[in-house]
Amino acid sequence: MGDLEKVKNEAVQIIGIFQVLPRLVVFDLDYTLWPFYCECRSKRDMPSMYPHAKGILHALKDKGIDIAIASRSPTADIARTFLEKLNIKPMFVAQEIFSSWTHKTEHFQRVHSRTGVPFNSMLFFDDEDRNIEEVSKMGVTSILVENGVNLGALRQGLTKFSQNFNTTEKNKQRWQKFTKKSKSSEKKIDD
Ligand SMILES: [Mg+2]
Repeated sequence: MGDLEKVKNEAVQIIGIFQVLPRLVVFDLDYTLWPFYCECRSKRDMPSMYPHAKGILHALKDKGIDIAIASRSPTADIARTFLEKLNIKPMFVAQEIFSSWTHKTEHFQRVHSRTGVPFNSMLFFDDEDRNIEEVSKMGVTSILVENGVNLGALRQGLTKFSQNFNTTEKNKQRWQKFTKKSKSSEKKIDD
């Protein structure tokens, strides 16, 4: 079994542990999927990804989870050429690659309008803490990666996603109880 298959199988197992899953996983490119800045490379180069990255992308697709890209690379043409060379380009339901002054909030607005997936059903991996900070504020579960995306980061991301989901559900239930209570006390006053 090749390394790609091995990582993919492990990723499938990790995903299988979780009952609550994101609908869409969004990846940064530079220093998240691959260990370089595209702008410092030539289109003629043959790029390589972080060792676990490709297996994780395939595992997500196999489990029916969509994947997308949000990159602020100023050289979208090089990034797209690399995605093609790596045979992963058609896997992504959205590819937002453009430089921007915002910390990817604009990228996520576009990903949302393209896919219709709500922010709280998304999981995001990036190596820059400013992006993580801003995108989390939108309601997206966001994970900072230090050595690119790997199986550890995937597990961490899915864990945090479930925790966020459970917190939201609990708050919803609390709110429903609270509104029910206040309705019944209103009734009492009316009586
Ligand atoms: Mg990056």
